[in-house]
Amino acid sequence: MNTKARRDRRFVLPCGSLLRPLFWIWDFGFWILCCRESHIPRESKIQNPKSKIHLERRCVFAPLAYRLILVPLLAASGAVARQPDGTLGLIRTPNDGIPVMVLPGTTFETVLTSQAALRLANAGGQYELSVEWNALPGGLANGRCTVPPETPEGMYAIEVSVNGQTDRNERAVFVRASFPESYVVAHLTDTHIGAERGKRSPSDVLRDAINVLNGSEAAFVVITGDLTDGGEIAQFQEFLRMLDTSTLPTFVCPGNHDRQGLNYESFFGSLTYVFWFGRDGYLCFDTKDFTTADDLGPQDTYLEIFRRLIKPARWSICLTHRYEPDMGMRSQIVLFIDDPLDHLIMGHWHRANEDNEKMAPWGATTLTVTPATVDGFARMFDISGKGVKPRPPQRIVGTE
Ligand SMILES: [Zn+2]
Repeated sequence: MNTKARRDRRFVLPCGSLLRPLFWIWDFGFWILCCRESHIPRESKIQNPKSKIHLERRCVFAPLAYRLILVPLLAASGAVARQPDGTLGLIRTPNDGIPVMVLPGTTFETVLTSQAALRLANAGGQYELSVEWNALPGGLANGRCTVPPETPEGMYAIEVSVNGQTDRNERAVFVRASFPESYVVAHLTDTHIGAERGKRSPSDVLRDAINVLNGSEAAFVVITGDLTDGGEIAQFQEFLRMLDTSTLPTFVCPGNHDRQGLNYESFFGSLTYVFWFGRDGYLCFDTKDFTTADDLGPQDTYLEIFRRLIKPARWSICLTHRYEPDMGMRSQIVLFIDDPLDHLIMGHWHRANEDNEKMAPWGATTLTVTPATVDGFARMFDISGKGVKPRPPQRIVGTE
């Protein structure tokens, strides 16, 4: 493991825990230890393995001490936000990249690595969930949870306690009083955390963009891929750190830059999923693979199932990193021909679509591309009985 990944083992945020100040102190100390390393360009580390070994030795104390001191402290605190390295633990979904929006007294789906008693928690209180369990392939457990009718509106963590340990996914459940017929969706894309470009770091730009959206009229935020620049664990950890400053639900999907082993899956779980906002169905699909929805891959089946699931929707809206005309033909038939999606929202191009690029090929699904957030851009969509109407992209954050 390289030093950069080790450095980011410092990432632990047991939100709400009394230990949080300790982590900040530790985090700062760890950063001081490793900051010289971070200025060495990635290329030189690859070309000069000796310097890499030297740097790893220099930083060996910090991660070791982290494991010896902080992990037991964390366990004693009984509050673990995800795993100590930021990856998902017992609760796979919902999470802060695939949350649920739900009315009191209604149900939502959860996926855990094993059955356990679940509750919603925030500063206002805790609400036990009644759960109906079903077994999923691979030993996972699917729970249909009912939100207690008395649950107040607000943002909740979903928590589970097993053997004295608490696993907690922050910002996972948003209880709403209603789902209005007209609402606004904010689109961010191509945040490229970890990239070295421009005068401001992509992290700073994303944090500021999220801050702007926190004060906006948006009901929720979608972030369509290239979350990171290289799919590295450390970059996903940094992305999460920025994401969790959002007070709105945030839905993510992977992009081609997020390819690196199963790192994306460890942080967010599903690559392809659906969610609802009132009567509107949203389908997020994976463009992490080289060929989008390869005819021989498993994604075709998911797309077919999910497309059917949102068939009754008022509007069917697809979120993806990139639409490629050479994606699997079965999926193209499912998404754009048999029962065409109403709208497709994507990134990838790092520019807005021109007037002649506002329709997916096949002629029925309108398409909107938003320029990259790493360049300071976001776009709002007005969703109402009249349709899905993109506003012009806006530069909401300076990058100089
Ligand atoms: Zn990109």
